[in-house]
This record gives sequence, C-alpha cells and structure tokens, in this order.
Amino acid sequence: MTTATKTLRYESGETIKCSETVYSGGFGGYNCSRNATVLRGDKYYCTIHDIVRHAEKRKERNRLWQEKWDRERAERAKCKAKLVQRIVECDDPQAAAALFDEIRRVR
Ligand SMILES: [Zn+2]
Repeated sequence: MTTATKTLRYESGETIKCSETVYSGGFGGYNCSRNATVLRGDKYYCTIHDIVRHAEKRKERNRLWQEKWDRERAERAKCKAKLVQRIVECDDPQAAAALFDEIRRVR
C-alpha cells in the first residue's frame, strides 16, 4: 500500500503543521513541527503521527505476533505428542519418568 505524502497547505499557501503534541522528557510537550500530510477527522497529522497509519501498523504487528504464537503453540503440541507417544511405547519405568519430566518442561 502506498500512502500519498503530499504536504497539505492552507488556501494561503502556508503549510499546515501536524497537530500532534510531542513529549520529550521536559516540561509539557510541544507541537510536532512536521508538515501535515493527512487530515483525520478535524485534525492534521504528519506521516509519522498519522493515527490511521499507526492503527494499521499496530494491527499488522499484532497479526504477526499471533501467527508466531500459533506456530509456536502448534510446534509445542507436536513436541508433546511425540513425547507422549514415546512414553506409551516405553517399557522402562525410569525412562518413562524422564520423558514425563521432559513433557513438563515443554510449556
Ligand atoms: Zn507529527
């Protein structure tokens, strides 16, 4: 997806500034000094502070995390199932106990 990054201007030709307040550890915050490129509702934002772009990025990041978790969970389930199978097939009680410990370590 490509986002237009055209600087927005007032009718006078003056560039519109981003309306985001930036905090930098000092007292209070100051207005972002970047030129606005989008209008969201009644507020202007630069490319960095565009709330919609932020939401999309967050959604994408969450999706990637979810995929990673799902993959890892499936991997762990497979690993446990293998260990269970080995316990079932194992006729040495001590080895079975060791395998059981191994299962408990797979979280
Ligand atoms: Zn900004």
